[in-house]
Amino acid sequence: MEDAARAEDGVFAASEPTAPEPTASESAEPQSSGSEHHDKAVALLVGLRRTDDRFTLSRRDIRRLTPAVIAWFDNGASVTAVHHAMTANVPALVEHPAGFLAYRLRELLPPTLPPMPVVPERRGDPEAEASPSYPMVDCAGGCNRAFRQPEGTWCRDCRAERDRRTAEAEAVCGRAA
Ligand SMILES: [Zn+2]
Repeated sequence: MEDAARAEDGVFAASEPTAPEPTASESAEPQSSGSEHHDKAVALLVGLRRTDDRFTLSRRDIRRLTPAVIAWFDNGASVTAVHHAMTANVPALVEHPAGFLAYRLRELLPPTLPPMPVVPERRGDPEAEASPSYPMVDCAGGCNRAFRQPEGTWCRDCRAERDRRTAEAEAVCGRAA
């Protein structure tokens, strides 16, 4: 389909050489709009000048910075977070606004969000045993009980048993000493 369109362009250009097709050069550029966050990233960059005149970016700058902003969105950052990262505490003198923004976006990029919030194991807390956000796993204490917990978690009974044995062992050690 693209080849057909190009062939038509060729015929068109041959018959009317004074009219260079402006879309031809644009379509030759790699399109980075594959991301779902592309439009949001562009809108954010274009809108920066509402916050700060110095960030009135050229189209070229916006095109260059867009992937960096998309990376933030891909990592779960909100529009507010990206905006803040770029525009908070801007020094009085910014010689190269686009370079400044690129630097900020690169250096402050947050890590990817884990797929699920990781709840730190609260040992001995009975409520921690009913978390629905984990897949079913067997108790690591060896009782064959299954529950929704991070891999390697001991159930309450096994923990109690373990603690009892530890206490016993300590008692034995205490007597031996
Ligand atoms: Zn167990």
